[in-house]
Amino acid sequence: MRPIDRRATPRDGSDEPKGFSKYRHARKDLIDRLGQYCSYCGTRLPASLAVEHVRPKKPNPDLELRWDNFLLACTNCNSTKGDKDVVLDEYFWPDKDNTFRAFVYTEGGLIEVNSDLTDDERELAQSTIDLVGLDRTPANDPAVADRRWKNRDEVWTMAIDARQDLAAQGTETLRKWIVNTATGRGFWSVWMTVFADDQNMRKRLIDAFPGTSKDCFDDECRPVRRPGRAL
Ligand SMILES: [Zn+2]
Repeated sequence: MRPIDRRATPRDGSDEPKGFSKYRHARKDLIDRLGQYCSYCGTRLPASLAVEHVRPKKPNPDLELRWDNFLLACTNCNSTKGDKDVVLDEYFWPDKDNTFRAFVYTEGGLIEVNSDLTDDERELAQSTIDLVGLDRTPANDPAVADRRWKNRDEVWTMAIDARQDLAAQGTETLRKWIVNTATGRGFWSVWMTVFADDQNMRKRLIDAFPGTSKDCFDDECRPVRRPGRAL
């Protein structure tokens, strides 16, 4: 899960923090800051991306229009998470934690908790997967209708191919093309995983996806603890 930084409330024409009369009005600003990606699963969705409330608006009407309660989410993540209120400390959040450290992405579009975490961290990471149903596949949920795993699987194969091509002819043009393909398809975490040993590509991926939290990486583009947070 890509760690992101939505930054402070955008400013209006008078340089005042924008007030949103409807939460949907924040969509453009959120996409400008974070790109057209689901904040949880990383799917790129040019059209149907919704403004997501970290703490659902139904049980928290006072948070319905709050910029710091907004993310972007696809239909699958949004509907799985639902309207049930959440206790923030029981999960990892892409806008607060280095969520890239929480999970491991593997072949076949799979995602699991990073076994290097402490017991407590593993519990939070698993709760986060469960909150949005991130690890659903036909193998563990025969009724699964969403294609997040399948899209991840396709991107995984694409990224492996790209890595092989790069090993054969490591040109600047090819590196740019791969980054354009990555931003066009989404699933930043998959690309970062496949290019784990290529610092140059990791740097490009961190820079190319808008709003990636640069505080979450060291000079060699390895994930580090997010400042002020446990993960
Ligand atoms: Zn999603």
